Amino acid sequence: MRKISSQAIRECVSRLVLEANVRLRGDVRRAISAAAARETSARGRRILQELLENAKVARHDNLALCQDTGLPVVFVEIGPDVDVSGVNVTGAVQEGVARGYREGFFRDSIVADPLRRGKPGFGPCIVHTSFVRSKGLKVTLLPKGFGCENKTQLKMMPPTADAKDIEDFIVEAVKDTGPDACPPYIVGVGIGGSSDYACQLAKEALLRPIDKRSRAPHVARMEKELIQRLNRLGIGPMGLGGKTTVLGVNILLYPTHIAGLPVCVNISCHVLRSASEIL
Ligand code: SF4
Repeated sequence: MRKISSQAIRECVSRLVLEANVRLRGDVRRAISAAAARETSARGRRILQELLENAKVARHDNLALCQDTGLPVVFVEIGPDVDVSGVNVTGAVQEGVARGYREGFFRDSIVADPLRRGKPGFGPCIVHTSFVRSKGLKVTLLPKGFGCENKTQLKMMPPTADAKDIEDFIVEAVKDTGPDACPPYIVGVGIGGSSDYACQLAKEALLRPIDKRSRAPHVARMEKELIQRLNRLGIGPMGLGGKTTVLGVNILLYPTHIAGLPVCVNISCHVLRSASEIL
C-alpha cells in the first residue's frame, strides 16, 4: 500500500486547475482544426481559426482560455493499492482548487449561498469520489462554464422509447440551446441509471476523447447519426451559421430500472476543458 498525503492531492489539483484552464485539450483542438478545413461558411471558418488562435495565445501567455473559468467538477478515483486513511480527500481537493485559481488569477465564479448570492469566491467545487480497480489515485478536473451548463436537460423517458425518440430529444435540446452557449458544441449524453446518475454520466461522457466513438456498436452508431443530424441544424460556429454546430457527441450508458429510461444531455461549449493526473 502506498500512502498518499493531502499535500500531494492539493498540489496535484492546483496543477490540474492551471493546465485545464490554460491548455485546450488536444482532441478538441484537432477537432476544431479539422472542422475549419471542412467548413463551407467563410464566417464560420474564420471563427474556428480565431478559436485556434485564442487557444495558442492562452497556452503561450498562460492565460485562461475563457473569462468564465467555470465551476470545477473533480473526479477522484481511488485504487486498491493506495492508502488515504486519515486524509481529508475532499478538503485537500478544495484547497488545491482555491490555490490553483488564485495562482492562475482566474475569475471567482462561485457564490456560497445560491439564494442570497453575494460576493463570489473560488469554491467549494463539486467532488465525486469513487473506489476503483485500477491502480493509483486518479484526479480529473473539469471546469464547467455555466453558459453551457445552464442548457442541461434531463428527460425521464418511458421504457418503450426507442433510439429515434432518444435522438429526437437530444436534437431538440441542442436546437433549444441555439447560439446561446458558444458553439461549436460537444454533447455529453447519459442514458440509464437514475435521474441523478444520468446527469453525472452525461458530464462524465465529456471526459472521453471526442474523436473516439463508443465501443458498443449500437451506441457508436447513435453518436455518428447525431453528429450528422446536429451539424445539419445550421447553428454553426458562435451561432453565425455554418455546418459546424457540434464537434462531437459522446454517450455513456448504465443499467436502469425496467419502468424507466432517464436521458440527460450536458452540452459543453467549444472550450471543453479537463485535465487528469494519476498519483
Ligand atoms: S459557455 Fe464556454 S466559451 Fe462561453 S463564456 Fe461560458 S465557458 Fe466561455
